Amino acid sequence: MSPHSDRTRLISSATRRGQGRRPVNPPVERASTMLSDRAAAMRDNADGPTYGLDGGTAARQLRAALADLEGAEGAFIVPSGLAAVTVPLLALTRPGDEVITTDALYGPSRRFLSRYQAARGVTSRFLPADADAETVIAAIGPRTRLVLMESPASLTFEMIDVEAVARACRERGVLSMIDNTWGAGLAFKPLAHGVDVSVQALTKYVSGHSDVLMGGIAVTDSACRRAIADTIEDLGWHVSPDDAWLALRGLRTLPLRYAEQGRSGLIIAEWLQARPEVSRVLYPPLPGSVGHELWTRDFTGAASLMGVVLKGGTEAAGQALLDALSLFGMGYSWGGFESLITHETHQTAYRVYPPALEGELIRLHVGLEDPSDLIADLERGLAAFRAVLTLP
Ligand SMILES: *Cc1c(COP(=O)(O)O)cnc(C)c1O
Repeated sequence: MSPHSDRTRLISSATRRGQGRRPVNPPVERASTMLSDRAAAMRDNADGPTYGLDGGTAARQLRAALADLEGAEGAFIVPSGLAAVTVPLLALTRPGDEVITTDALYGPSRRFLSRYQAARGVTSRFLPADADAETVIAAIGPRTRLVLMESPASLTFEMIDVEAVARACRERGVLSMIDNTWGAGLAFKPLAHGVDVSVQALTKYVSGHSDVLMGGIAVTDSACRRAIADTIEDLGWHVSPDDAWLALRGLRTLPLRYAEQGRSGLIIAEWLQARPEVSRVLYPPLPGSVGHELWTRDFTGAASLMGVVLKGGTEAAGQALLDALSLFGMGYSWGGFESLITHETHQTAYRVYPPALEGELIRLHVGLEDPSDLIADLERGLAAFRAVLTLP
């Protein structure tokens, strides 16, 4: 492994010498068919891929850079972040197996477990969102095949001692997997903490510009790698060369965008925490917030996605807050250059143990705008929230 930092390696992989005259960035190779010169070479992939499904140069370079970033032996790309969660689950579980996870798992991942996997005979247990490592480890039983973590978790941002869970899994012959989208493969390195499979929605910070859907799967264990490669081949998943090219472009500047957005995120979280309308900011980098100790111990940076629990309020007041903003886009997803806001109060209702919230739940993604402009915008939003509540 190169002695350089992530920030340097993500760029120096593009400028490595000894490759002849070439553009800095790979060409976009749109191809289903690859031609060979001799019949005997048609099936020989020593000369490069024999068919478009294998992926072109941009996909290969993206996979290599992702594996390097995650400290993995190999990385795969799939057409969405959700597929990065579902493919390893399909590859690594069999009917009769059980998956252990928590209530705060990303909603569509949860739906895959409770609909598709359940129909396939793979059962799932959803522990309380704030289950600690001890609770998760104690839940491992004879049928448990895999523990699926997300830390911080979706919407309520609970953290878990990933290393303790991964270690206990290894001791028991159980696989561990994490959705590391918040850490982006950058601020947290799951494989170095003993996790078997680290996945992330490249849609978010890696692509970084809200114009690509893609997932990344990083894995070191050779049996897991084989199983995941086979499943991708069996299912016929493919990522377009244009999308691979865009994600590779995003990856070059990931550390800079991530650090800047994390800085702004903390400024805004501190400002919100001091506001009279706000009960709690759910943001592990914020001192006093849920998960702060584990974040301090394990993470080297912060994403800019957080939850905000308001003091009381109604659905109409929450909507008035969103409607009053002009800089925060109203839309799903996150990790792009732009600030986004969503109203999430009702998205926790499907949980086995719905959280007790003091008021409306808002989710903020802080983009690359000037944080003082974003604060002025949020001030208008909170004034609109208050105005609705004082109406008769
Ligand atoms: C967005 C997201 C995904 C899914 O990514 P898509 O590309 O939208 O399918 C998975 N996990 C987490 C935690 C996410 O936030």
